[in-house]
Amino acid sequence: MSYNHNQVDYNENQPSAPPPRTVSLMDVSPQPPDKPLPPMPPGHNKEKSKFFTYFLKKPGRNKIEISSPQDFSHQMHVGFDQESGEFVNLPKEWEVLLSTSAISKEETKKNPEAVLDVLNFVMNEQPHSGVQPPTKYMQHDHDDEEEDKDESSSSQSAAPAPPPRPAYTKTASTRPTSAALIQAKVPGNMPQGQGGRNIPKKKKKAKLSDEEVLSLLRTIVSVGDPKTKYTKFEKIGQGASGTVYTGVEVSTGQEVAIKMMNLSQQPKKDLIINEILVMKENRHPNIVNYLDSYLVGTDELWVVMEYLGGGPLTDVVTETCMTEGQIAAVSREVLQALAFLHKSQVIHRDIKSDNILLGMTGGVKLTDFGFCAQITPDQSKRTTMVGTPYWMAPEVVTRKQYGPKVDVWSLGIMAIEMIEGEPPYLNENPLRALYLIATNGTPEIYNPERLSSVFRDFLAKCLEMDVEKRGSASEMLQHPFLRKAAPLSSLVPLIHAAKEAAKH
Ligand code: ATP
Repeated sequence: MSYNHNQVDYNENQPSAPPPRTVSLMDVSPQPPDKPLPPMPPGHNKEKSKFFTYFLKKPGRNKIEISSPQDFSHQMHVGFDQESGEFVNLPKEWEVLLSTSAISKEETKKNPEAVLDVLNFVMNEQPHSGVQPPTKYMQHDHDDEEEDKDESSSSQSAAPAPPPRPAYTKTASTRPTSAALIQAKVPGNMPQGQGGRNIPKKKKKAKLSDEEVLSLLRTIVSVGDPKTKYTKFEKIGQGASGTVYTGVEVSTGQEVAIKMMNLSQQPKKDLIINEILVMKENRHPNIVNYLDSYLVGTDELWVVMEYLGGGPLTDVVTETCMTEGQIAAVSREVLQALAFLHKSQVIHRDIKSDNILLGMTGGVKLTDFGFCAQITPDQSKRTTMVGTPYWMAPEVVTRKQYGPKVDVWSLGIMAIEMIEGEPPYLNENPLRALYLIATNGTPEIYNPERLSSVFRDFLAKCLEMDVEKRGSASEMLQHPFLRKAAPLSSLVPLIHAAKEAAKH
């Protein structure tokens, strides 16, 4: 990586003091237990120990999940001995993980609950890519619990509430076609007022069988053989879920990108359906537009999208140095996409430079919608932990309820990538990075005095710990920093430079 800070568009006339570091003062009070606590372990000293109640359930062979207190199958009381700096009753797997985490004893003593938060986070890990760090994380069960909460609260109101939706449909459009279609696939998912009252509360998302996935996909994809519609396939990239090719549409000569996925190799087919539906139903100039999709043979899915030849923003941030004008231009384009998505009640949840694709003329578009979440006005907050650790907002890491502003935080982290070439804590052990996000709050910027005060203010508003005070996407679009935006064509030399560097 080579980046030259001398090229940054410094504002040397107004070198003001660096912004104060905002230290996390998050609420770390333990959740009140629903059941009486068991007797303290032998040798436990109340003075020195602090006990937390965790609710564990074992959904799979090698996995421990910690649910929120609404849903419990087994309680776990984890204590902390301030004197020894050791946890008491910590599950073995957690202990092993902690011992390799590079989180020091002092750090653990300073904030044991943050340590439990991040251990919880990692133990709930379901890597989306499974390939390389930074790993994406997701945990779906809390979606269901959120549903349950909604369900129980709505059942008390007089008006019949809409039926609960399976987790994956929440990320899809509310257009009646797809939503109704998916709901119809889930047994027992009947509208209230049509016998829905007697439906037992769903604690676990019904997993679609392969046949259900296929029949659902058949209602989304186009009929026909894409091999006759597109030609000149050339491999351009490899993702966790499939291989991306360029192709040319025979009838128009338009160049397209085609993601080809083997369905039988997909551990999370709902994410793919999610991605297609979100792309299909949220069209915007700053979003990589969906063009078409096909089922090929018995288990191959092709998704045809706009082709963006400039590659991911990651190549630019790691190989070149961007001016403030260029950073403002990219930020504005991404904020436009976010304001649009948030207005449609969609949270992207995985904003980072890897998910920003550039066009050869400087277009900036958001992609990778597998983790999008659909929120509704009465359920505008979520507790699911999804995303890529280094870009995650503190309220996600600490499993607080969160909303669309998590995307604004991640945009702030992405702005740091554009300044420094990488997000904060990238060289840290991922678990320690999560601890630092949870406890440090707003990250420090290396040599902040080299940035203009208006840029520092923009960063501070995106990376504001207090979610209420953090700007929304539409508010951030009004920020004076964006007036510094250079023309999008100014990104073209950076794209060429990044491509050149990649060759070497
Ligand atoms: P996954 O979504 O399966 O986790 P991923 O996000 O790592 O994988 P993909 O979306 O499969 O990656 O894309 C793989 C590569 O293909 C990307 O790094 C990107 O460079 C390229 N690519 C993807 N979509 C397009 C597109 N529409 N235009 C140009 N290049 C693309």
